[in-house]
Order: sequence, then structure tokens, then C-alpha cells
Amino acid sequence: MENEKKQVPMEIISAYSKRKGFIYPSSEIYGGFANSYSYGPYGAEIKNNIKNMWWKMFVSSRPDIVGMDGPILLHPKLWEASGHTSGFNDALVDCKECKKRFRADHLVMDLTGKDMEGDLEGMTKVLQDPKMKCPECKKSNWTEARHISMMFKTEMNAYEGPVYLRPETAGAIFMDFKNITDSLRVKVPFGVAQIGKAFRNEIVARNFTFRIREFEQMEIEYFIDPEIDWEPLFEDWLSKQKEFYNRLGADDRDLRQYEHPKEKLSHYSKKTIDFEYNFSFGWGEVSGLAHRGNFDLTQHSEYSNEKLEYFDAPNNRRYVPHVLEPTFGLDRAILVSLVAAYTEEELEGGETRVVMKFPKEIAPVKIAVFPLLKNKPDLVEKAKEVFTNLSQKYTCEFDDNGNVGKRYRRQDEIGTPYCLTVDFDTLEKGTVTVRDRDTMKQETIKLEEMDKYFEENL
Ligand SMILES: [Zn+2]
Repeated sequence: MENEKKQVPMEIISAYSKRKGFIYPSSEIYGGFANSYSYGPYGAEIKNNIKNMWWKMFVSSRPDIVGMDGPILLHPKLWEASGHTSGFNDALVDCKECKKRFRADHLVMDLTGKDMEGDLEGMTKVLQDPKMKCPECKKSNWTEARHISMMFKTEMNAYEGPVYLRPETAGAIFMDFKNITDSLRVKVPFGVAQIGKAFRNEIVARNFTFRIREFEQMEIEYFIDPEIDWEPLFEDWLSKQKEFYNRLGADDRDLRQYEHPKEKLSHYSKKTIDFEYNFSFGWGEVSGLAHRGNFDLTQHSEYSNEKLEYFDAPNNRRYVPHVLEPTFGLDRAILVSLVAAYTEEELEGGETRVVMKFPKEIAPVKIAVFPLLKNKPDLVEKAKEVFTNLSQKYTCEFDDNGNVGKRYRRQDEIGTPYCLTVDFDTLEKGTVTVRDRDTMKQETIKLEEMDKYFEENL
């Protein structure tokens, strides 16, 4: 019965997400606003579930990692120290005919298949070839390729000069390194984790929520002794990252690692590996792991004149720790879970059902509660009582619209693992019918065993 799973096109996922209340294009009533999206009711649940899963996995269950939550607006000097003010750029090029603006390396990649990221002169030269036509107006008349900052600028009445929306969350962690080591008894190796919004003023955004200007990151800075052999820790982080994507529903065959070639690494990085997911538009980066040496703490030390060191008391050693940085894109994690869950199944009798096979941990609604008939007050009242009980513990939905078959389909479409029906047997014998999303099998359980049943299964 199960059909072979193919990678579902992004247009289908985006249309489906809108129709079912996962993700909406934002500002639609005002004609839309480039690449901004809202998480609808079910999308917001998924987002919270993924954040909670990540936090449990990497913070609450780890004695060596603490969490924090820093601000979006930070002292602009921090971005000078990190190199963002001067070096965080996109290459852009304009079509002189239709005035459309493109990200130069993406345009050159689309036109020639060559990756020329960073090579402004090279890209300008390639685009002089009259065969390099504008995808919009089909003419060939380009400006030079040039850099533009990807930082969103704003201002603060109490501060002279520009202030930026943070382009990544990591900065706040380094800034509070001293506070954390002073206020907590953390011992190297230890990590500091954070989930939060970051902003990048990208020139062209594309592929649904894969590339958006306002996005959420889940980042960890894992501080280590510079003298130790870091490779086993690096390997361990890679396996944890993979486990995280498996728990979102990603198959191993849809995940791969991409190691940044030595010549493209930042001067301070010993090794950087990305995880990529097999989207319908190609492999796309969903997370990264970088060995950043002591670059960040050293830079912030220099720019702030504040010693950012670790004191190893038992060995009477003082040093600047090195750092491993695992980073995850939350919006991309949501996209992976949507793509991995989307399944069209042909049923016996030729009917097709769309079912979102989310792992139970991720599913936006865990249990849907139905009264068999909406015009029988006894059934409705009992079903509401069951709903009230279960919803103390699980995200539940109450539905009395249409026949039970239709309600099952609606719940399949949002990936609800269990549907529970209150029927006449509930009133007479104290039993309810529980239906499983994946097998579509129904079983009868006693009301008093209901809590135990869901404790075991959810
Ligand atoms: Zn054009």
C-alpha cells in the first residue's frame, strides 16, 4: 500500500502549507512582502516542538551545556570585532535594461553552472559575454558585480551611529562568556546554547522558507581546551547533528555531509562540515559544524580590552579556549520535517490520501477527539470531557464536523498520530475507539486505560 517516497516539489509543499495552516506568505493583503512568511497555527506548534526537542537534546539533558537568550540589538562594536561590519557581504549585479537586481554568484551559477562566489572581477567578466542574458528581460547589459552589506541597519535614539539587527546569534554568546564563567561553575569542555532570530539582508531570496531574511537559529558554542585532541569531540557533534535530523523524520539517504575545502576555510577554522538535505531543488545546507579556534574570544578581547580567558584551577592554567560551533537553522529544520513527512498514499479502492507522517514528537496535534455524532448531547458532552482531560497533557483538537471518515482525513492531512472517537459504547461500556494515523487500524480501549495508552504511545 505504501508508495515509494519521492522528493516532493517545493511548490507543492508551499501551497500545501498555506492551505493547511502551516506556513502563510506574509503581508498578503498588502500585496505581499518579499520572502516573509508567517507560521500559521500548525506551523507554530511544529516550531515549538522542534525548539523543545532541540533544547532537551542539547541543553537540559546535557550536564556540560547551559542555555541563554541574548538580545537582537547588540553593541555595534561587537560586529566590528567579528568582522561582520566590513566582511559580511553579498555580491550583486543589476540588469541595466529592466533594473532587476540579482545576487551575482547565483546568477552566474544559473547561467554557467560555475561557482564563482567571491570573485567579483571574474563574475563581471563572465557577464560581459552577450550570451549571458537576463532571466527577466532576456537582454544582456549588466552592471559590474559589487559587494553590498548583508547587515540590516537601524538606529537607536540613545546611541550615536548605526545599530544592526544581529546577523547571527553567536555574538551574544561570546559577549557573555565572562558573565557565564563568572556566575556559573562551568568547566571546560562546556557549551552555551541559544535559540533566536537573526537577520540577513539577502538580495534574492528563493525556495520558499529555505532562504529568508528573518530567520531563527539554534546555535551552540562549545568551549574546549586548545591542548586536547579535538577530533573525537568534532565527530561526536556530527553524529548528534545527524541524530537531530533523523528525529525530525529525515532519512539517512536524504542527508549528506559537505566538508568545506581547505582553501575556502576561514583562516582560523581547522575544519568545517555542513549537513545538507536532499530538497527537490537540490542539496541544501541545513546545519553546520565549525572548529573556529580561539578567533572569536581573541577578537572580542582585543576590541573590548576585557580578558576573555578560562582559568583551570586544579592545574593552575589560564588560557583562551578553542570553540566548536554546531549551528542549526530552525526554519530549515521545519522545512525538512514538512518535506520528509509529506506522503501521498494510494488506498485500497483507488482513493488517494495525503498524510503528513511527522514523528510523534513533531506532530502539531497529538490527539484529535471526536464525538461520533454532533447532534447527540450525551456524546458531545462526554467527548468534551475527554478532550479537557487529555489537553492538559497533549496538544489536542476537538472536531465534530462532518462524518468520522472525513475527520480522519483532515487529521491525516495535518499529521495527527491518533484520533479518538467517543461513541455509544463509551456511554454504555466505558470504551473509546482509537485510530492510528499510519496503519489506519482502530482499536477499542477502556477509558480508564486511556492515560496509560497515550503515555506509552506518545
Ligand atoms: Zn533584465
